Amino acid sequence: MIAKVVEEMFSQRKGNYLIPAELVANVSETNNLNHALLVLTKVKYAKIPVLDQDQKLKGLLSLAMITETMLGLNGIDPSRLNRMQVKEVMQTDFPRITAPYELEEILHLLVDQPFLAVVDEQGVFLGIITRREIMKEVNYFAHDLEKQYLIKPNPGYLQEVNDRQAAVQLLAHKRRNHSAKIRR
Ligand code: AMP
Repeated sequence: MIAKVVEEMFSQRKGNYLIPAELVANVSETNNLNHALLVLTKVKYAKIPVLDQDQKLKGLLSLAMITETMLGLNGIDPSRLNRMQVKEVMQTDFPRITAPYELEEILHLLVDQPFLAVVDEQGVFLGIITRREIMKEVNYFAHDLEKQYLIKPNPGYLQEVNDRQAAVQLLAHKRRNHSAKIRR
């Protein structure tokens, strides 16, 4: 469970960390790979969303997925790029977030993903949440938390943490002594 104050602070600024669809570079699933290569090279993002003609999210596309397609037995063969479409090489297995979303889910998934694509219940692409935007929010909270809330330590919890650390140190000390005795 995420702390209530963190949830509250994030929800005050929900609009701040979603980059809306109109500002997100994307390619269409039916674009050929030549075009997609140009877009990815120009926008300089590692990976971008793939949409269909109804603006529904279909996949993600990276430069690596395109270059891999160019690799033939005799080296690089760019002629394939004109013959192949984005939907043939895009990644379709990735976490997507359906609005309205829970902060806990976002934080959890962003550990392994640099960004998350957000869709509505019909699968229409709404935008992305990036690690960078979340880090900006964390920076804001780190500065603003004590302005909004009165924070005081929970002595019982701190004592528990200290006791646990002391127990771990004692155990490590005993193990070291035991191994030293065996070596002697
Ligand atoms: P950042 O946290 O800003 O470095 O972004 C992480 C990743 O999110 C980038 O590498 C891109 O894959 C994606 N991304 C961020 N902003 C955009 C954007 N405006 N359009 C498309 N993809 C983006």
